[in-house]
Amino acid sequence: MRREILLNPGPVTLSDRVRAAMMKPDLCHREKEFSALCLEILKMISEVYPQAKEFQPVMLTGSGTSAVEAMLQSFASSKKKSLIAANGVYGERMAAMLTKQGKPFNLIKGEWTEGVDLAALESNLKQDAANYHAILVVHHETTTGRLNPIEPVAALGKKYGVPVMIDAVSSFAAEEIPFDNVLAVAATGNKCLHSIPAISFVLARRDLLDAGASESKSLYLDLFEYYKAQKGGFSPFTQSVQGVYALHEALKEFFDMGGLSQRRKIYHSRRDRVLDLLQSLGVKTLIARDTFSSYLTSFLMPEGKSYDALHDNLKENGFTIYAGQGNFSGKIFRIAVMGDIRENEMESLLKLLRQNLA
Ligand SMILES: *Cc1c(COP(=O)(O)O)cnc(C)c1O
Repeated sequence: MRREILLNPGPVTLSDRVRAAMMKPDLCHREKEFSALCLEILKMISEVYPQAKEFQPVMLTGSGTSAVEAMLQSFASSKKKSLIAANGVYGERMAAMLTKQGKPFNLIKGEWTEGVDLAALESNLKQDAANYHAILVVHHETTTGRLNPIEPVAALGKKYGVPVMIDAVSSFAAEEIPFDNVLAVAATGNKCLHSIPAISFVLARRDLLDAGASESKSLYLDLFEYYKAQKGGFSPFTQSVQGVYALHEALKEFFDMGGLSQRRKIYHSRRDRVLDLLQSLGVKTLIARDTFSSYLTSFLMPEGKSYDALHDNLKENGFTIYAGQGNFSGKIFRIAVMGDIRENEMESLLKLLRQNLA
C-alpha cells in the first residue's frame, strides 16, 4: 500500500500505530472495557490543556462539525443573541447553524483576508451587551490559515460581561488556547490529534454542564445527555468503536512525543520549510506570514499556473494539497503539514513543489 501524504487540513496521514490500533477485536459499546477506554480518553483529552481545570470534555461520534454544532445546540441561547465574529468559512458556518436552529444571532461578516474585526465587535457589545449571550469565534480559520488570537476577543467580552465559545476544531492540540472568559471549546480527533474522523468533543465549563439547562433542539447533539451518560464511560448512542481505539492510540502517541509544545515545534519546522521554499520561488502568501497558524499556509496561485495541474502532479506522487474555498477556489492553494509525515517525504514534497512552481 503506497503511503498517501495528506496536506489538507484534516483528516491526516495516520501513523502505523494508530492504524494498527483499529484492528483490535470487535467490542460492544455497552461493555465495561469500552467504558474504561472512554474514561481514559476523557482524562487524556483534559491533559492536553492541564490549565483548563474547570472544563470537562464531552465526546460524541461525528466529525469536527458535529462538535461545533453540538456546542451551539446545547449552549447557544434561544433568547439572547450570539455575536459571531467571522473572518472565513467556519465563522460564517456557525451563523448557518444558528439559522437552522432558529436561534438569534448577529454576524459580523469580516473580510476573509483580515483578522477578527475587534472594532466592530466592541461597537456591537457597547450598544447591546445585555442582549448578548456569547461571542462565537473560530480560533484557527482554516479558510486562510490565520490563527485568530483569542485573548483580545475574550478580553472585550469580559469588559461587557459576555463569554466566548470557540471553534477550535483545527487548533486543538497544536495551539495554546486561553480559557479565561470562555464557556466552551469545540474540537475533534481527526486534525491535530492525528486520529481518524470519528470522534469529536467539546470542552465545556463543568458548572455549565452541571447546572445549566440544555438549549438543544436536537436529540443527537445534546451534550447534556452525553455528559450524563459519560460519567460512567458510556454514551447515549453507539460511538465509533474503531474511532475510539484510534483516538486512544493517537493521544498516547501525542503524549509520548512530548505533548502540545513538541507537536507545535514539529509543525513549525515543517511549515517554515514550505514557506521558505515557496517564498524563495516568488510565490505569494495569501495573508502575512506571521499571521499563519503553526501548520497551515495558503498561497496565491502564481500567474500562468493552474491549481488543477499542481494538485494532480502532487497527487500522482502521493501528496494531496488542498484548494481554496468559496471565492478563493482556483486562486489559492493550501498546505497543511500535520499528521505522520516522514523526513524523506518532506524532502520529496519540497522537491515536487520546486519542480512545479519554479
Ligand atoms: C475542519 C474544520 C471544521 C469542520 O470539521 P469536519 O471534521 O470537517 O467536520 C470546523 N471548523 C474548523 C475551523 C475546521 O478547520
